[in-house]
Amino acid sequence: MNLERTMSQKILIVEDEASLVMTLTDRLQRNGYEVDSAGDGEVGLEKALTGAYDLLLLDVMLPLKSGFDICRKVRQSALDTPILFLTARGQTIDKVTGLQFGADDYLTKPFDMMELEARIEALLRRAAPEASYSFGNISIDFRSAQVTKNGVPVVFSAREFHLFRYLVEHRGATLSREELLTEVWGYDAMTSTRTVDVHMAWLRQKIEENPKFPVWILTVRGMGYKFTG
Ligand code: CA
Repeated sequence: MNLERTMSQKILIVEDEASLVMTLTDRLQRNGYEVDSAGDGEVGLEKALTGAYDLLLLDVMLPLKSGFDICRKVRQSALDTPILFLTARGQTIDKVTGLQFGADDYLTKPFDMMELEARIEALLRRAAPEASYSFGNISIDFRSAQVTKNGVPVVFSAREFHLFRYLVEHRGATLSREELLTEVWGYDAMTSTRTVDVHMAWLRQKIEENPKFPVWILTVRGMGYKFTG
């Protein structure tokens, strides 16, 4: 999965739940990441501000300083380290408010480890964008925004390409229609989630062998979509 990674990337976990830190550390190390951790907000902030990390995994409710405090201070110091928040169930965090603190993504506890890994990989990919990506008989050149199928160019609208790129960057993650609307269409979009479905149907027409039985863009019942390429 991480064969393309030549230098190990460093993740800082700031979390006061020791058992979760152990589980996360173990799992992420097995995936080839270097992992460091802090059990409270002050130590977490101190470490985060060194800028030595490729990604910060922050709990929100922490002793001494909250995850939001850390996030805000990190952004104030002009560090653009990707930040993924781990939020407790029932802790409703308005995504827009959170993004004002400079966070990049959220995951609600309890979360699926595969989902966390997919989110982490997506954030690291965005920080160091890939020039191209291939799956099945499809190739994407991100720099020229060109997609080819069996070597033949496929025409994408700007929106379709943006959506496709988001799917590829978040491969393996389950993406809700709301997230896709926010990320691909923008916060103020007066669009309905139906728009997402329509565009997914168009993407399937372009990349799937049989759009009626998609193998790359899957519908996750009651959740949204998942790209498996
Ligand atoms: Ca906590």
